[in-house]
Amino acid sequence: MRGSSLLAAIVAFMLGAGLVAQPGPDNARRATIAPGEECPPGMTEIRPQICQAPQLPPPSIVDYRPRSTLVVPEHPVPRAKFPAIDFHGHPGNMSNAGNVASVVAALDTLNVRMLIAADNLTGDRLTRSIETIRSSPQKDRLRVLAGIDFRDVGPGFGARAARELEAAVAAGAVGLGEIPKSLGLSVRKADGSRLHIDDPELDPIWDAAARLDIPVFIHTADPEQFFAPLDDHNERWLEQALFPERRYPQDRFPSFEELAAERDSLFRKHPETRFVMAHFGWHAANLARVARLLDELPNVYTEVGAVLYDFGRQPRAAHDFFVKYQDRILFGKDSFQPVEYPYYWRVFETSDEYFDYYRNYHAFWKLYGMGLPDAVLRKLYFANALKITPALPQAGWPQ
Ligand SMILES: [Zn+2]
Repeated sequence: MRGSSLLAAIVAFMLGAGLVAQPGPDNARRATIAPGEECPPGMTEIRPQICQAPQLPPPSIVDYRPRSTLVVPEHPVPRAKFPAIDFHGHPGNMSNAGNVASVVAALDTLNVRMLIAADNLTGDRLTRSIETIRSSPQKDRLRVLAGIDFRDVGPGFGARAARELEAAVAAGAVGLGEIPKSLGLSVRKADGSRLHIDDPELDPIWDAAARLDIPVFIHTADPEQFFAPLDDHNERWLEQALFPERRYPQDRFPSFEELAAERDSLFRKHPETRFVMAHFGWHAANLARVARLLDELPNVYTEVGAVLYDFGRQPRAAHDFFVKYQDRILFGKDSFQPVEYPYYWRVFETSDEYFDYYRNYHAFWKLYGMGLPDAVLRKLYFANALKITPALPQAGWPQ
């Protein structure tokens, strides 16, 4: 096909598709749209209500990696300004002395003084981890949370689990968690129904945590985008295309709001129990919502693991939020990747602008520093974790 007849075919196609293509070869890649309407696929808005397709085939979102030309001061922060407690650790097998030593060696380079393994451990795995840490030269650097195995929940389960939790705490566990997201999302009761997060059968567990004076670290749901249609408007399209198991099709899973409501009902039902809501409850893109939750429920704390991208895209609002709720927020990293911690330090401590995040499938945008004051950093990094976890070593922290 000659060039001119190819163009004619494109124009004819666009007209056929209902796009108002303007005549002439230079305008063949254009369409106009009504106010509020989106450009057709493959086109972008170049002037108000005028869309145009690129003259070259566009790179895919996987391949498009523009290098920033912005020149501004940069202040990388390899070590936290104050010794930190990572409240949300998944450091691998803590019953392996070699792994314990290598994890602590990595923590040393980051100024993380204490890591809390939040692997929801029970039984032998829990006691072996506690024993390995206790008999290691790194015994002051790691602690372990106890867990709950939510299989076969039926009458009597809660009371039994509460007794096991009591034994785990006597053995050295400093808290409970991370209560996994499968509670709510997928775990079934012995009778086949979905185990709701606020199921009364579990009440004895949360009440035991209050009695034992330990925090409950709980992960509920997942990023809201995982529950939404996977289309070109989904902020986490790439992640869900990479990891299909992260999608929660709404014909098979409860909704994000259903899970959040069950979680909040759990927090309300147990005002004497201290809950730490992992990942900012997946509400870090809506700080007003977290503020309402913290205002209503003084027994609730929250944790920053894996949601750095949401603070880094609203550094001023996040700064004000962290200052206002400075007694309620804990540092935690989640996935144990030592090279990723410095991104957290840089967002919390500096006022740097427009710098890279560490995973482009979480967020396709750049980060900005929040410039938090020292008094807030101290609470975020260690003081709040010490306050709500009396079993942690309380001596030797900066004043
Ligand atoms: Zn976790």
